[in-house]
Amino acid sequence: MTTPVLETRDLSIRFGGLVAVDSVSLHVDASEILGVIGPNGAGKSTLLNLISGLYQATNGDVLLNGVSISGRPAHRIVEMGITRTFQSSRLFNDLTVLDNVIIGMHSRTDTGVLEALLLPRRARRKLREAADHAGALLNSISRDLYARRNTLAGALPQADRRRLEIARALASDPQLIMLDEPSSGMDDRDTDALMEDVRRIMQERPGISFLIIEHDMRLVSALPDRVIVIDYGRKIADGLFQDIRLREDVQEAYLGQKV
Ligand code: ADP
Ligand code: MG
Repeated sequence: MTTPVLETRDLSIRFGGLVAVDSVSLHVDASEILGVIGPNGAGKSTLLNLISGLYQATNGDVLLNGVSISGRPAHRIVEMGITRTFQSSRLFNDLTVLDNVIIGMHSRTDTGVLEALLLPRRARRKLREAADHAGALLNSISRDLYARRNTLAGALPQADRRRLEIARALASDPQLIMLDEPSSGMDDRDTDALMEDVRRIMQERPGISFLIIEHDMRLVSALPDRVIVIDYGRKIADGLFQDIRLREDVQEAYLGQKV
């Protein structure tokens, strides 16, 4: 058996009386897309916050390539290979599309102020290299975003903002990308483009994995290799979407909503 890229073991967090994530054990293999579904307030985003080091678990462990990363600061976890997008956009609206990608490359653009003052040529070269790298990356994900690389991010339509966030997440050269409801606010056409983006990224970067929280069942049925269901902080199902979607407890979690 190969070691999963990501594993959580009995991961839990308590906020006062509320156990928002309750003993969740999951894994994501290399080259796998794991879908995470569950009703509003189930604890899905909190699970991502735990994995990405924004929240400290009350119990349990997070492992990257079999090594515990619990307690590491969030920026270290990004450097180690787990990156993410947020449910609400975190782009810098008054920076260009390209600059937003460059910001995602923080470990590559470590030019300090002192270096810029003392070695301006070297600093300029490093920045130019960063811009070239970011441009190539953007182009590989989306030609049309690349064509608009000098547009301010704030001027992009919602769907393109979400795609830019994925490009920025890729800039840190991750092994695992976690997306929190990437299709929210998108129509079917935009969602199809998003799925194409993910498939292209998987092809161009062998071994890369995705963990995708989603509510759009069209995406959930088409994109992930495997799906887990979170309800009241607990994982209640784990398997192929077509195998779990009709289970009674999964249906109940959605209170009769069509899954
Ligand atoms: P989901 O993403 O599945 O919709 P969340 O993970 O955002 O759900 O929230 C799960 C539960 O945890 C909710 O009841 C939410 O109010 C609670 N919660 C999340 N973050 C915090 C926090 N920082 N402090 C207190 N409660 C929180
Ligand atoms: Mg959420």
